[in-house]
Amino acid sequence: MSKETYIYTTSEEDLKAAAKVLSEGGLVAFPTETVYGLGADAFDPGAAKKAYAAKGRPSDNPLIVHIAKFGDLKRLTAVFDDEKEKRMQRLAEKLSEAFWPGPLTMIFPKRDEVPYETTGGLGTVAVRMPASDATLKLIEYSGTLLAGPSANISGRPSPTSWLHVRYDLDGKIDGIIAGDPCEGGIESTVLDLRTMTVLRPGLITPEMISAVTGEEVTYDKALFEKPSEDPDYHPMAPGQKYRHYAPKAEMRIVPEEKLEARVSEERAKGKKVGFIKKPDAKSFFAKLREFDAQGMDIIFVVPLPEGDSLSFSVMNRVLKSAGYNIEK
Ligand code: AMP
Ligand code: MG
Repeated sequence: MSKETYIYTTSEEDLKAAAKVLSEGGLVAFPTETVYGLGADAFDPGAAKKAYAAKGRPSDNPLIVHIAKFGDLKRLTAVFDDEKEKRMQRLAEKLSEAFWPGPLTMIFPKRDEVPYETTGGLGTVAVRMPASDATLKLIEYSGTLLAGPSANISGRPSPTSWLHVRYDLDGKIDGIIAGDPCEGGIESTVLDLRTMTVLRPGLITPEMISAVTGEEVTYDKALFEKPSEDPDYHPMAPGQKYRHYAPKAEMRIVPEEKLEARVSEERAKGKKVGFIKKPDAKSFFAKLREFDAQGMDIIFVVPLPEGDSLSFSVMNRVLKSAGYNIEK
């Protein structure tokens, strides 16, 4: 089913028009500082279902809800009454003060009003406040809160400009807000507040979270494992289950000293070869899409050295896009 996808500017008039479409259950993609999000009314099970369908995303992969002010959190999260929940509340206050608006997503117990269609069947809801003035206004004007998975076809590299969104979703969604390209370039850090574990690494590092809260922060164990392809596997963070961020070209991770030889070897076979010597958050996904547009057959990426948290976040995306295809 094809529909016309309207391109909105970030003018007040356009943001209000886009907000109206969202409040009526439509889908509009919006800019953020991480990647573009596919906006849908977080309280409308039908809208969430449409977002999954447009992306071709498995429905057990939960969506992140985007809010415009700290007070919006009350509309999503269960009342904090026992000691454990009060502690979460205090942590959330400190972290939001330090990092919101910004690329940190926190997980809370959900209110009954948040439909399971939004949370991928989980009793928890993931929330963040994006650092984009246009999108903060869009949320305000919509009168609701917006579920916002990345605005790409599921499995493809995340979109870091509105043109990437149009390439993937033209004809499948109601509109796209044509804002700036994304500054961050990789998805937000996802933090489980109950256990202070990072489920998805991003530009906000465990060290930064520790410095603000005084708590020990660890990475989820699954981040160090190659994800299982077993369909019955149910990890803690459902995003870990599926192949992600993949270009059309075959992708391989090679040691720096082997790069030149491997590129020549593949070119000698008549293959179109792209390579990335130093992957960085801001340009990585855009680069993969550029290589696809150029019709590359194979892409080589040199891994970043271990030991630094920001590099770990970038390498998480590199490994997933390469399907853990590592040459020794
Ligand atoms: P995306 O929408 O593409 O940014 O992906 C959102 C990711 O956030 C998911 O793949 C999950 O890893 C994570 N997430 C969202 N909600 C939850 C939740 N309630 N519990 C655990 N992880 C979540
Ligand atoms: Mg995504």
